[in-house]
Amino acid sequence: MSDPKSYTVGWICAITTEYVAARAFLDEEHEAPAYLSPQNKNDYTLGRIGKHNVVISVLPLGEYGLTSAARVAEDLLHSFTNVRIGLMVGIGGGAPSQKHDIRLGDIVVSIPFDGHGGVIQYDFGKTLQYQSFQPTGFLDQPPTILRAAVIGIKAQYEMEGHNIEEATDEVLSKRPRLRNKYQRPDQESDRLYQSYIVHPFNGTDCNIVCGSDPAI
Ligand SMILES: [Zn+2]
Repeated sequence: MSDPKSYTVGWICAITTEYVAARAFLDEEHEAPAYLSPQNKNDYTLGRIGKHNVVISVLPLGEYGLTSAARVAEDLLHSFTNVRIGLMVGIGGGAPSQKHDIRLGDIVVSIPFDGHGGVIQYDFGKTLQYQSFQPTGFLDQPPTILRAAVIGIKAQYEMEGHNIEEATDEVLSKRPRLRNKYQRPDQESDRLYQSYIVHPFNGTDCNIVCGSDPAI
């Protein structure tokens, strides 16, 4: 049984797909915790990534949003009292702009910039006609240790690039069951349609229903 006191990083996922991906990337999975707070309602996976002991949890079935995430985080901190870093890691939608062609599958890390702390609450602001989103409040910036680590990763990336392909290939070869649902889709099918296109729900080929004209 694992000692809850030896975990310092908490990782919260919103949906099962994210939970599976998070678990698959553990270098080593640990046994269930030796004890938990009697009030605990969370499901946990324990393990190690690099030199860090990580506790991963997920929002309960059918629950979404900030309230549920806050409840999961609180339970996690009650049971794993030495957690010092909390990460919410999730799948975002594509958000392409003229400046950044962000597609599903890209990794985006928010950083403090231009007077913003780097953590933006999506419903903590207002959108006015013909104007961009205006924040009406702010959240504290992430802890120093994470902001320092981002610079470390940035420097490493500039010098050596990343090895995301290799890392995902390695995980998928260890767990071939995941390949079908979790591997990167064929580049050919990674088409970005204009936002007014309504896609079929029943899995029909987009090429047939939505068209393959590069202008749309
Ligand atoms: Zn479509």
